[in-house]
Amino acid sequence: MEYICRICNQPKPESAFTEKSHSLHTCKKCNILSNLRTEERNQLDEIFKIFIQTRISHKDTVRLKDLGNSKYPKVALTATLIFEVAQLRPYKKGRHAFLEQKYPELAKKIEEAGLAYPQYIKANSD
Ligand SMILES: [Zn+2]
Repeated sequence: MEYICRICNQPKPESAFTEKSHSLHTCKKCNILSNLRTEERNQLDEIFKIFIQTRISHKDTVRLKDLGNSKYPKVALTATLIFEVAQLRPYKKGRHAFLEQKYPELAKKIEEAGLAYPQYIKANSD
């Protein structure tokens, strides 16, 4: 099975991840030291952290809207995507199944952005 790294957006095999990098949806190569990270990278990490919270708060939603106007296209795109998710389903529990069922296109975009690993989530929810 392959997973998409949310930073380089490349589908990569399990072996391209470490356990820690896998939990961050980031391949080994992209899992660089935090002091080497660019502003763009920090914003992408910030969005990911908001996305994996139990619930996306109103404050986070405001922040996502703000990041939707980022000068970095990838940040703007990702923030807009998660902003849309926050409007539909702020709670993380059962979110992906909900999106797959009701908003399959949005669910697919999230997977392609490397933000969700449905099989991985399912395999670990037992
Ligand atoms: Zn990568």
